[in-house]
Parts: sequence; C-alpha cells; structure tokens
Amino acid sequence: MSLKKYDLWKNTFFYKVIEAHRLVHAYIVLGPDHQKKIWVANSMAKALICTAHGATYCDVCPSCVRINSHNHPDVLWLYPSGIQRIIKIDQVRDLQAALALKSFEGGKKIAFILHADRMKEEAANALLKTIEEPPENTYIILISDTIESLLPTIRSRCQHVTLPLSSNDDIRTYLVDDCNVSEQQAQFICARARGNFSIVHRYLNEQRSNWRNFIVSSLVDLLNERRDPFELAEEIESGIQNIAGLSSEDQKRPEDDAMAESDKKSIEKSLYNQEVCDYFETIELFCRDVIIYKLTNDKHQLVNSDKLQDISHLANVFELDALSDFLDRLQQAYHAFLGNTKLEFALEILYDSLSVTGMPRRN
Ligand SMILES: [Zn+2]
Repeated sequence: MSLKKYDLWKNTFFYKVIEAHRLVHAYIVLGPDHQKKIWVANSMAKALICTAHGATYCDVCPSCVRINSHNHPDVLWLYPSGIQRIIKIDQVRDLQAALALKSFEGGKKIAFILHADRMKEEAANALLKTIEEPPENTYIILISDTIESLLPTIRSRCQHVTLPLSSNDDIRTYLVDDCNVSEQQAQFICARARGNFSIVHRYLNEQRSNWRNFIVSSLVDLLNERRDPFELAEEIESGIQNIAGLSSEDQKRPEDDAMAESDKKSIEKSLYNQEVCDYFETIELFCRDVIIYKLTNDKHQLVNSDKLQDISHLANVFELDALSDFLDRLQQAYHAFLGNTKLEFALEILYDSLSVTGMPRRN
C-alpha cells in the first residue's frame, strides 16, 4: 500500500509516538487487518530512516524507495518459512547477526517479525535475549494475529498495540486520492471492505472488478430472461474456480512449491469456498440495493451506485414481494452449498426457479 497523502499515517499510534520521541524498543502489533499492519510497519520504517522532518517521510528519497521494495539493509523482515510455515531458531540467529552489524546508514535499525505467533518456542527464547538487551538504536516489531500464541515472556517484554479497522473516510481518501478510483467505485469498495484494507486490495484488482461486473450483468440478463439458467450455472461455477485460482496465485510464496499436495488442496478448497461466499454476497448486496432504491429512490444509499441503471430498471420491473422472495431463494441456495450440494446444482435450482416460475412482475 503506497501512501501519497500523509493524513492516514498521521492518525496512527506509531506516528504520534515517533513524533513525541517516545518509541520503545519492542512492540507486538495486533489487529484484524493484516494489510494495515504491514503498511503501518513499512511507514514506521520510513519515518525512522527518511531524513524528512519529524515522523513524516518523503516516499521518494533512495531510503524510502528501498524500504518500499523491502530492500533496505537496515530494515529486516522475518517471516515463517518452509512447509510447516514456522519461524525457526536459525532464522532468529541470522536476524540477530544482521542486527549486530553496524547500521548501513549510520542510523536506526528495525526488524519486523511477521506472523510472530508462528515462532517455535526455542526461536522465541532466542529472540528474547535481543528484546531484553537490544543493540543501540534497534527496534523489534512483532506482528501477529493473536496474542495468546506468543510466549508469556515475550508478551511481558513488549508493548502491545492493536491497530483498529479503518474508517470508511480513511479508505475513501486512500482510494480516491492515492489509487485514482472513482467516487462510485470507492463507495462500493468501502461497503465491501468494512474497514479492512486487506479486502480493499482484493477489489483493486482489475480481473476481480471484471468478475463483479459479469456477476451483476448476468444476473440482470437472467431476470430479463435473456440467459439460459443451466448454461449460466456452468459459467458461474467455472468463473468462481478461475477467480479462486487467481487469488491462490496472488498469495503464492516461493516456498509453496515444496508444500505437501494435501496442504495445497486444503488452501485451494478454502479459497474456493471464500469465492462462493463472495459470489452470494455480491448478489445479495445488489438485490438489497434494488429493494432500497424501490423504497427510497435515493441513489446515495446504494452500495452498488455505479450500477444505478440496472438497479433502477429492476426496481421498476419487480414487486417488493418478488425481490424479498429472491433473497430467500438466494439464502436457500447458499445453505444448500454449505450442506455439500455441488455449487453448480445449487445455482441451477436457484436460476431455474427465477426463470421458470418467474419472479412476479408488474402488469
Ligand atoms: Zn524519504
């Protein structure tokens, strides 16, 4: 996540403590949004090393550029490796050796330990020494999803900071100012992300945006009896497999090639399930927009405000009862999938019920 506006960084805990010269030597950073934790960590490194005034950073000097590409010798990143995805004692020793060297730019050194909850006990015990007696001008930041899996001795020697989810205003500013996303698209992404930057980034992907357009347009076509329900079910099923495959490529790391087949299969299965859930949620939110628009005629209340033409058309054609009945059928189809019905069959039943018995229309 790049940052051109400094407002978001200035709202963070770490900006304030760096500005006040009150940064301590070891932190555990917690919170539900993984992307935000990485972004704050990266911003913190730039603020400590960039020569820009106080806790700000310039983002363009050679130091900032190298930090952004994870290629700065004074900023060290340690993360789980190998098939078991753990942080081993050897990795901690390598980190300690690197921290013992003189800083490259004669200033501060900072080490980030990602998924610190995946540190083996012996690795954590080795790290403890560095946390207790850190080399001068050295900061150790442990980033974790949960506090419980960290050793009590580590927990008691670090300050804990939980990063909250972000406000819709922060996300909108980031999307519109830094990512050149339109206001309408930003409104949609904010609604889907619910404060989580990790989800924001999923929706910035062009293929995902095309996929969402297809989901909505094919539904509209089906409701207008321009699509064959069985063909569409097949197309949606293969589309979901395709987009799940893309997310699996996005999340792939070099060591994954060595992963056991059974582990790969279970990751693929969970990404597929996540995409199925996303598909049903996309349609549900769209259908809710049609209902809201029918009731209020107010486009500002819509999640999918960029689909106003389709929403307004469906709101005009269908009665409220039919739309609410559609939401029920959608729920039933999703529950059938959760109860192990093959997705394609669940979709065939759903689509067929929409086009054969039909949704009661006006006139
Ligand atoms: Zn800089």
